[in-house]
Amino acid sequence: MQSELFQNFIDSISSLTSEQRDILNTSLVSAQIEITEAVETTDSETLCSKSLSNNNTTHDVEKSILSKFAENPKCPRCKSHSVGRWGIRNGRQRYHCKTCDSTFNAFSGTPLARLRHPEKWSKYLTYSMVLRPAAAENGIDLKTAFRWRHRFLEVINNDQAEELCGITELDETFFRESFKGQREGLPRPARKRGNDPHKARKVPVMVARDRNRNTVDGVLENESANELCRHLNGRISIQATVCADAHLAHEKLADKLGFDFKELVTSAGQHVVEGIYHIQTVNSYHRHLKRWIGGIFQGVATRYLPHYLAWRRELTAANKLTAGRLVSKIAEHWCFQPLTVT
Ligand SMILES: [Zn+2]
Repeated sequence: MQSELFQNFIDSISSLTSEQRDILNTSLVSAQIEITEAVETTDSETLCSKSLSNNNTTHDVEKSILSKFAENPKCPRCKSHSVGRWGIRNGRQRYHCKTCDSTFNAFSGTPLARLRHPEKWSKYLTYSMVLRPAAAENGIDLKTAFRWRHRFLEVINNDQAEELCGITELDETFFRESFKGQREGLPRPARKRGNDPHKARKVPVMVARDRNRNTVDGVLENESANELCRHLNGRISIQATVCADAHLAHEKLADKLGFDFKELVTSAGQHVVEGIYHIQTVNSYHRHLKRWIGGIFQGVATRYLPHYLAWRRELTAANKLTAGRLVSKIAEHWCFQPLTVT
């Protein structure tokens, strides 16, 4: 748009009726989603937007959350199980906690609590991954939208591939340690923009990926065989052939876990062994992961890194996360496991 036209458009905003403002807001939100989705979605990669359009699934899942919760209701405030039924509101059973006297339903304390209508969940789950539209759509601030995003990501956090098979590539990459968003409890004075980024500690991240697009990843405390083993033990088939850089830790890991190890001396220019063994797939995974984290999110805090690894894992998996699966995971997680991110 020409700058003069744009200025006229801006000037006219103050004279819009409230109805016109609503229309404008809605258009801006949906335009923002399209833009963000275009950036966040590469080819067919999408966590929920398309797959979460099945409203029947969310309705069924609402019922399943309600019935699961009813089996063993727990107070979201004090975690007591000493609760009684307390009438029904908006079609949902309410409970009363005998310990702390609060009343709640199966959704209290979860981000879904604000959404009375399950048919909106698909939209909401999509939005929660895109902060600004999530905030605008749900009338919450960005901080809350961010917290909700991490509540969903926590649900898929431990969904590593069950077993890597066949040719599997293993390599480590590094992310600069970041305390983004953290104001208190910093181990050093807050860094100002422009300070030397090379001084920051590098956090090692391991990715093991087989050629069927199954992935196991993890943030490492160090680069030892034991640390790799902590993440990979039980997750690599003993029939797998693992390709990795010549590195003592990799050799030791192969001994411990018993897989066939194809060693590459990439530092000496050896990139392929026997025509099929290489680590180019996992290296390309690293490159896309870094571009995604650095570009879309402008870097992420180290403490949230596992969540973004999980998100990326889901985006690039052969077996993509569907609406039904995500929402049943949420049900499982919230009904049976405590949240660690609040
Ligand atoms: Zn209570």
